[in-house]
Amino acid sequence: MTQKLYYTDSKMSSFDATVLSCESENDRYAVVLDKTAFFPDEGGQYADTGMLGNAHVLDVREKNGIITHFTDMPLEVGSRVHGGIDFEDRFEKMQCHSGEHIVSGLILRHYGLNNVGFHLGRDDVTLDFDGVLSSEQLEEIERLANKAVYDNIEITCEFPEPNRLAALDYRSKLELTENVRIVTIGDIDVCACCAPHVSRTGEIGIIKLLDFIHYKGGIRVHMLCGARALRDYGARYKRNREISNLISVKQTDVSAGVSRLLDENGRLKGELTDTKKAIVQRHIAALEQTDASIIVFEKLAGVDMMREFANAAARFTDSFCAVFCEKSENEYNFILAAREGAPVTARDIAARLKERFGARGGGSDTMVSGGISASETDIREFLPEI
Ligand SMILES: [Zn+2]
Repeated sequence: MTQKLYYTDSKMSSFDATVLSCESENDRYAVVLDKTAFFPDEGGQYADTGMLGNAHVLDVREKNGIITHFTDMPLEVGSRVHGGIDFEDRFEKMQCHSGEHIVSGLILRHYGLNNVGFHLGRDDVTLDFDGVLSSEQLEEIERLANKAVYDNIEITCEFPEPNRLAALDYRSKLELTENVRIVTIGDIDVCACCAPHVSRTGEIGIIKLLDFIHYKGGIRVHMLCGARALRDYGARYKRNREISNLISVKQTDVSAGVSRLLDENGRLKGELTDTKKAIVQRHIAALEQTDASIIVFEKLAGVDMMREFANAAARFTDSFCAVFCEKSENEYNFILAAREGAPVTARDIAARLKERFGARGGGSDTMVSGGISASETDIREFLPEI
C-alpha cells in the first residue's frame, strides 16, 4: 500500500520518498513510491501532474491501494526522490471539488436529490443529479453555496471508527463499510470521499453554477469555482466589453443592443430581397424578341434571383442567354439558358467557356450554372464568336 500523504495534508506540494519500483511501459515508466502526495485519477477527477526528480509525472493511477506514477524518465529503484506537484492546478481542483460537495450537500438537504455523477476536467466541471431542478431552484442553491463560502466553514477529513461510521448519515456512491474517509463541511454536507479538499470553505472563493441540461431523467449542472470562475469571469467580461464597444451600447445593455441590430438586419434583408426582385423584374420587362444572344452582367440581384430572368430570356431569343453576376473582381457566377430544341444548347456554351476560360459548372441543355474567372470585356468579346 502506498502511503497517501494527501489524506492528512492536502496542501503538501512537495515531498521526499523512496522509489520502490520502476518499470518501462510503452513509452512511459511506471513508478511506485513508498509514499506520495500525488492524487491519482479517481472519482471523476483527473490526476495531479508535476515532477519526480527530473522526470515529469504525466499520469497517476491507483490499483489495490498501490499508486503508480507514469513518468517520461526512469527513476532508480531504491533511490530517494523529491516530488513536486503542480500545485496551482491541484489547488484549483480542490476548490472545485470542495465546491461540489457544498452544492451536492445543499441539493440533497433542500430538494432530496442525489449526486449520481461528477466530472472534474481541466476545462469543465459537471455534477449529475437524479432529479430535475428549475433554474430558480439552482439559483437559490448557488446563493446558499456562496453563503457557505462567506461563512468560511472548516472542512474536516477523517476515518471514523466503525461504530461511529455506522451511526453517521453520509452521502456515498458506494456501499463502504471500512476505512471510509469522511469529509464534513459543517452542517452542509457529510460525504465519503478520498480526494484532497481545501481546509475552509472561504478558500473556494466563489461557486458559480453555469448552464444545466436534462440528463438521464435528472439534470447535469456545469459549475466553476475559485480561480477558474475568476478566469471565466474575466474572459466573459472582456467579450462583453468588446461587444459593447462594437455596437456602441453600455455593457449592461448589450442584449437589447444586439436584439435591435438583429431586428434591423432582418428588415434590411427584406428590403434587399425586394430590391433584387425589382431589378429582376426590370430586366424581364426590358426583354424584346431577338435573333441574337442575350448577355447580361448584373451584380446586385445575385445569381439565384437572376435564374428567373434567364428562364424568361431564353424564350425571347433564338440563340442563348447568359447572365453573369460578379462575386469579386473578375470572378463571376453565371447562368446559361437556352430554349428547348435551340440550335446551341446551354451545355455547348458552357463547354466553350470551359475551353476558353476554364469555367466550371453543370446542368442541362436548357440551363447551366457555374463560375468563371475572367474580365467582363474578355467574356463579352468571346461570347459573340459562339
Ligand atoms: Zn468528493
